[in-house]
Amino acid sequence: NPKLFARDRHVCAYCGKRSPEDDLTREHIVPTSRGGADSWMNCITACRGCNAHKGNRLCEEVGMGLLYLPYVPNLHEDMILRGRRILADQMEFLLASVPRSSRLHV
Ligand SMILES: [Zn+2]
Repeated sequence: NPKLFARDRHVCAYCGKRSPEDDLTREHIVPTSRGGADSWMNCITACRGCNAHKGNRLCEEVGMGLLYLPYVPNLHEDMILRGRRILADQMEFLLASVPRSSRLHV
């Protein structure tokens, strides 16, 4: 989960609130109980309140929209998200290979 929260910059995809890791949950856009996969593209960061409110339902059923979309981190981005100790010059090298659209650049 820490990797998922880092990808989503600790921001809830439903209400946009930024929370500490303790208040965040891994939210499946299509619930696993309804055939949703446990994958990068079906997972998003949500605060406990929004996750509980959505429960086992689909976004359309609750009228909740996503503020941002999930994506699969590329290899270099993945290394950064894993939070290894990275030296400054290596970090620069890695960031150069991360797509401009990545939230790691924001
Ligand atoms: Zn929320």
